[in-house]
Amino acid sequence: MAANNGEQKPLDYESAKGMEKEEAAFYYRGPAEEVAEGVVFFPTQGNCTAFVCDGAIFMVDTNPQWFAPGMVQSLREQFSKAPVETIAYTHGHIDHVTGAETIIADASERGFARPRIVGHRDIRHRFDRYRQMAEQNNFINRVQFNLPEETKAWNTVTWTYPDIEYSDEAIVTVGGEHFELHHSRGETDDETWVFSPGRRVLCTGDTFVWASPNGGNPYKVQRYAKDWADALVEMAAKRPLHLLPGHGPAMSGEERIQDALLSTSDFLRSIHDQVVAGMNEGKWLEDIIRQIDFPSTGKPWLRPIYDHPEFIARNVYRLYGGWYDGDPANILPAHSHDVAAALVGATGSESILARARKLRDDGDLQLACHLVDVVRKGEPDNVEGWRLWGELFAARAAAETSLMARGAFYTAVSEAERRLKELGV
Ligand SMILES: [Zn+2]
Repeated sequence: MAANNGEQKPLDYESAKGMEKEEAAFYYRGPAEEVAEGVVFFPTQGNCTAFVCDGAIFMVDTNPQWFAPGMVQSLREQFSKAPVETIAYTHGHIDHVTGAETIIADASERGFARPRIVGHRDIRHRFDRYRQMAEQNNFINRVQFNLPEETKAWNTVTWTYPDIEYSDEAIVTVGGEHFELHHSRGETDDETWVFSPGRRVLCTGDTFVWASPNGGNPYKVQRYAKDWADALVEMAAKRPLHLLPGHGPAMSGEERIQDALLSTSDFLRSIHDQVVAGMNEGKWLEDIIRQIDFPSTGKPWLRPIYDHPEFIARNVYRLYGGWYDGDPANILPAHSHDVAAALVGATGSESILARARKLRDDGDLQLACHLVDVVRKGEPDNVEGWRLWGELFAARAAAETSLMARGAFYTAVSEAERRLKELGV
């Protein structure tokens, strides 16, 4: 691994501007697009789709609250003035459902009936949890997305609960047209994927996002790799002509969509099955991860630019196992700072830092970080320790493609800067 040479730019919404759609992938944002007659796709952050039916509109997702006004304006000015009769939520994430109030306000301004909202029955449990854990979500999203300290999205959005809940499958009829709603678990436990049999259009929600699946997120609750893999096979069996993902651009073409859905399914299933096999061999997590033959991320929709395949493996283990890591010192452990202080006391910080610099110079930033961490924790006023710690994580952030990994690295860089300032450097 190369140190920070400044050449590999972290990819995110800002750096994806002006890129070709597929190159920008998960981070693509663009204007509304009519992908088939009466199927208007809004590729913003948390995509949504308007199916213009006979005299009424069926919306799949809503955009996040901060993009919904532009979406509604575009829908009304460019595509249709018909009432939005029904909204289906693909899942309860903030970027997919919090535009609901904007769509409801638009209906009221136009003298239409309030749209009915359909969603899986577990969405309300998610919304309840988000209200209970608002500050924790603000905190963890600042880390995951490297956001400024004042960002508190969870305090400003409205969670609009579904009016109609379903369990496994449902049919929604709008303007005489039928749409299939299918529940699965994948990125979340409250998912719905929507299929229009008449138009052969598939709305995947976040089960497809033009990036290695968000099946491992280190900051968030459980994901479900195997159910996810199964759902992608069911979607493929519908033979869609258009795939409208939760993030990134629309995809058209029957064979390409088969490849996209089935290769993503195979990717998830491979990681899932290898973790399960390792667990059944009586192995602990770190040994399982070391032995996994991770499947290729070569397809344009499998690049690990957001989540990371290793995180998926950890999440599979968490679904089926406990938190014990196999190290008996860790079943009722000392605080890691006390362990580090004892180590620094035994060897001195200089030898540890020297070894870390040697590892860095040899290109092993991963191991170097672990060594410096002992000094950071064991000798919290050690200026050289903080300096090296910050440098190492800045280098790792610059070389890392996964946004979720980068979030943790950037947080380390900020922490080092803060501590060095406190120490008068
Ligand atoms: Zn999403």
